[in-house]
Amino acid sequence: MNAEIIAVGSELLLGQIVNTNAKFISKCLAEIGVNVFHHTVVGDNANRLKKSIEVAEKRANLIIFTGGLGPTKDDLTKETIAKHIGKKLVIDEQAMQSIEAYFKRTKRVMTENNKKQALVLEGAKVLPNEHGMAPGMFLHNDTHSYVLLPGPPHEMEPMFLHYGMKAIQEKMDVKEKIESRVLRFFGIGESQLETEIESILDRQSNPTIAPLASETEVTLRITSKHQSSEEARRLIDQAEHELLSYVGDYFYGYDDTSLMAELIKILEKQNLTIACAESLTAGQFQSEMASYPGVSSILKGGVVCYTNEAKQKMVNVKKETIQQFGAVSKETAKELAENILLSLDSDIGISFTGVAGPDTLEGKPAGTVWIGIARKNHETKTFLLELASSRNGNRSRTVKYGCHYLMKELTK
Ligand code: ATP
Ligand code: MG
Repeated sequence: MNAEIIAVGSELLLGQIVNTNAKFISKCLAEIGVNVFHHTVVGDNANRLKKSIEVAEKRANLIIFTGGLGPTKDDLTKETIAKHIGKKLVIDEQAMQSIEAYFKRTKRVMTENNKKQALVLEGAKVLPNEHGMAPGMFLHNDTHSYVLLPGPPHEMEPMFLHYGMKAIQEKMDVKEKIESRVLRFFGIGESQLETEIESILDRQSNPTIAPLASETEVTLRITSKHQSSEEARRLIDQAEHELLSYVGDYFYGYDDTSLMAELIKILEKQNLTIACAESLTAGQFQSEMASYPGVSSILKGGVVCYTNEAKQKMVNVKKETIQQFGAVSKETAKELAENILLSLDSDIGISFTGVAGPDTLEGKPAGTVWIGIARKNHETKTFLLELASSRNGNRSRTVKYGCHYLMKELTK
């Protein structure tokens, strides 16, 4: 059973609003095992809407419309569908009564075009609108089912949840449940990850595995279908286990988490405090950490030591170290991390020093970064990055790498 969602509204095409209705409906349909293969957006234009319906009818047997059920001239969804499938529009008495009652209650004059909202497709099951005037509709003929929903999300969402889904489930034999899980990876590129798991990708069917790369991370979405949710989840567990046997070194968390969120969990669990000396990142690491609640038991504080002078005066980096090796060096990163740990008496000291770009510094190219990680009773570690992003891209990547390396150190 295949569904297509047609969102009607020129404001969607003009970029004035986002098609959240399609997202909402898709998510609901996934939960009852209905495949959604296409989302269509079309303007308030009868001709183009008709063409969209024709296309959708060729590739879907359930077509869901949102928008264009209102009283104004540009609301033409039901008129266009009526004409297309050869059905009349008839007054729905119950809808008419509630519209009249609304105008009486609010002491407003009911204009003729408001009656238009009580018109429904002949033979359709009417879906009550508990938060507005235009009723929704569910209709089926020999080949297709059509669902018509209003545009405003606060009207559409409850209508679809309480009445639309029920009508769909009653009409069709929807049994399969869909479950999905996202695995997040850092420190590996999309093409490398795909190569590593090629043999699994090649033979996937249920569950399916979809890689997705953002600027700094790669995710794998595992989706499985089964009549029982439990079994669907078991299939996902199995796939996850196999995937991680190949690329588990780069895996850091599930679904909507972030590197920083995962790092904080580890610090909390191990009862560790951290202090930071930030040159290149100028406080970004601490700012991101502080955006999570409850972090005061972890983050002791730190400094922004942007200039060489600040590194010496605020973090006691030796003048000779900077003279001999430069501010962007393994040695400076090490001293920064160790000294900030000492001065704040934390368990961990982390430092960031590098060349943000676009210009070179000390003869080092933009994107050269040193991260230092000092820990009580451990040897200090330093990490060299050679980044190739924009100035701010290099800075935010550095923060992510800081989380990544520190997590690795703490979970060894
Ligand atoms: P109304 O009676 O309010 O005119 P309608 O059913 O005719 O409702 P539209 O006129 O198409 O619906 O849209 C009304 C409003 O609903 C839009 O201005 C927008 O705020 C919201 N809306 C419409 N379609 C969508 C969509 N696909 N996603 C999110 N919001 C939407
Ligand atoms: Mg409208």
